[in-house]
Amino acid sequence: MSECTHDCSSCSANCPSKNQGSLIEPANELSSVRHVIGVVSGKGGVGKSLVTSMLAILTERKGYHSAILDADITGPSIPKAFGIGGGIEGDEHGMFPARSNLGIDIMSTNLLLDDETTPVVWRGPVIAGTVKQFWTDVIWDGVEYMFVDCPPGTGDVPLTVFQSLPLSGIVIVTSPQELVSMIVKKAANMANMMNIPVLGVIENMSYVRCPDCGKEIKIFGDSKINEVAKDFGYDLLARIPIDPRIAELCDAGKIEEYDCSCLDAAADAIIKKTNG
Ligand code: ADP
Repeated sequence: MSECTHDCSSCSANCPSKNQGSLIEPANELSSVRHVIGVVSGKGGVGKSLVTSMLAILTERKGYHSAILDADITGPSIPKAFGIGGGIEGDEHGMFPARSNLGIDIMSTNLLLDDETTPVVWRGPVIAGTVKQFWTDVIWDGVEYMFVDCPPGTGDVPLTVFQSLPLSGIVIVTSPQELVSMIVKKAANMANMMNIPVLGVIENMSYVRCPDCGKEIKIFGDSKINEVAKDFGYDLLARIPIDPRIAELCDAGKIEEYDCSCLDAAADAIIKKTNG
């Protein structure tokens, strides 16, 4: 081994001092996760969980074993969209995530509650601790793409996700009703502060497709997303229409039946940007 120069930035050795100062938590010793992608938004209800679900569905369909860590601890909606209920099993080594019909591994607070309507009335540190435990105490086996459904905003829990998980990048989800420029700027600043790449922006609820003539109807007016993405130098990965079938399938626990083609190019771009 070469003599230590104390310059970790130019050294390839993986010695214990290398990660000093980093708050990244070690994964469970039986886990193997190749890429962790955070899905973030400025506020709730813009479709962040939907985008998380669809990206996991598409990467799984493309042959990459995928997983969802539902870090939206107080508002978990992932298990319901996939039609998954019931408890989680574990052994002395850790907890096993639930598995969807398609084969996506999922961990969410809703899977730990006896009744999914029980509110999670926990203080911030407990919530942040739960997110960490979903990373450290769950056995994520052979996962190539893990999508983390972050709670909205830039509070305690999103910060925990950014600091504790080894994110390969984040995807920012917006909707046309928002102050898009401000939302993107906040998320971008947070990612920059922690040296996490922004993989791109996805606009949800962009338009409604007329069932008769196929025309795009922009019910919230013209979107600013193209200019905002360009200003920041980010790729606009996708624009998702409002589609009643999405809400219908989420409510019925059958989101995996949706064709998700509106996000196909976005999934390809994420795979390319993270080198598959
Ligand atoms: P968030 O995670 O940002 O809080 P969700 O993904 O849970 O938002 O979406 C909120 C609700 O809106 C859900 O009921 C979902 O089914 C519905 N929804 C989201 N995007 C669309 C869309 N493009 N078309 C129709 N319904 C949508």
